[in-house]
Amino acid sequence: MKSITILGGGIAGLTTAIALRRIGIASTVFEAAPEIRPVGAGLGLGANAIQAFKALGLRDELVARGRALNALSILDARGKVISRTQSASSTGNDTYAIHRAELQDLLLSHLAPGTLQLGKRAERITTKDDHVVVHFSDGTERPTGHVIAADGIGSMIRRSLVPGSEPRYAGYTCWRGVVDAPDLPLHEAVEIWGTRGRIGVVPLTHDRIYWFATITGPPKDAHLASYTVKDLQAHFGNYHDPVRSVLSRATDAGLIHGDIHDLDPLPHYAFGRVLLIGDAAHGTTPNLGQGACQAIEDAVVLAHMVQAHSDPQQAFVAFERARMERTRWITRTSRRIGVVAEWKNPVLTMLRDTLFRLMPPSVNQRQMNKVLNVRLEALPEIPSHGPGSFRS
Ligand SMILES: Cc1cc2nc3c(=O)[nH]c(=O)nc-3n(C[C@H](O)[C@H](O)[C@H](O)COP(=O)(O)OP(=O)(O)OC[C@H]3O[C@@H](n4cnc5c(N)ncnc54)[C@H](O)[C@@H]3O)c2cc1C
Repeated sequence: MKSITILGGGIAGLTTAIALRRIGIASTVFEAAPEIRPVGAGLGLGANAIQAFKALGLRDELVARGRALNALSILDARGKVISRTQSASSTGNDTYAIHRAELQDLLLSHLAPGTLQLGKRAERITTKDDHVVVHFSDGTERPTGHVIAADGIGSMIRRSLVPGSEPRYAGYTCWRGVVDAPDLPLHEAVEIWGTRGRIGVVPLTHDRIYWFATITGPPKDAHLASYTVKDLQAHFGNYHDPVRSVLSRATDAGLIHGDIHDLDPLPHYAFGRVLLIGDAAHGTTPNLGQGACQAIEDAVVLAHMVQAHSDPQQAFVAFERARMERTRWITRTSRRIGVVAEWKNPVLTMLRDTLFRLMPPSVNQRQMNKVLNVRLEALPEIPSHGPGSFRS
């Protein structure tokens, strides 16, 4: 049983397959969706993720498809700056915004042929002494040496390994979209915090703008779920431009809506022959824009650990040791930011905004630097003799 099986073909699963390929390990990625569609909105890739792409030898391709962001400004509903942080890292990388479909396309183009199998939903796994069996919903089974579970925040694998590890609702719901806006020059990422919710606008390549909006409310709220662009325009009607201009270009067909969740930090990511990565391991709220970035870091760190340990199970434990503290800190910090950013009380929000304005910029910048500055060594070139396999 010298095979490695990745469950889930999202950013974590695809990047991990690429990272393992770089160290000569073949893998198969099983994805539940019957087809890969070029959907989704925008994504911020912090300088730490760009460093990870550099380690994978993909930095230049990524940068060519993304839009560099120099800074993130947080404004109040009238357009007054609350805080501003630089988004370049000490490693010399910038932060980039990219359309999710373009990132997906880039990752797919670097898989070895035949790596991705679609329409394969894992239903459960059974662990034997010397292998694991994955049972799919189509009735088929796959015996495999090791499983990397990259099946997202709702991970079936995680919930079977850690009973009760359900995603927890963050208290707010979110809409996203991408609009064409050649006449709306936007040079940096801006987030607007007001008592009615938050709106973010982020420039993409080709004169497009990625936007998101959050509103505090109960989970799975049918009224909020029915919101159209017109409802969002009415809700955020008193927010300054570019909010109105961006929403005036949005369409109902282009709206992506979902409640925001994260995971209470887990005690383990490594479970013998099974490893959790990406959102399955450490799903986080998007307030630091780090969920996908951490999944990409995971992939690079895992490949280094597999290379350094002859026993994959030891590599999984070493991965857990290397990743636990940082991913926990990201989850906790991001959740805390979300709580403060979603305050609705006008007095509290005014106090918050004033406090943030009085804070030396170095305080916010220090936190941002901790997110963005990461050391990830380069992985080797793809071996010319073709990929090998995991030791069982
Ligand atoms: C509103 C919002 C904004 C965000 N913005 C950012 C941002 O700016 N920057 C950033 O870094 N992150 C951001 N994130 C987070 C980011 O989207 C996630 O962290 C990232 O997509 C996680 O990737 P993943 O591969 O771990 O999980 P997923 O993307 O959820 O992928 C999991 C994959 O597994 C498949 N799957 C599920 N179950 C099974 C099964 N049983 N068998 C087989 N396949 C299965 C799914 O179909 C899916 O393809 C944002 C998230 C949200 C909600």
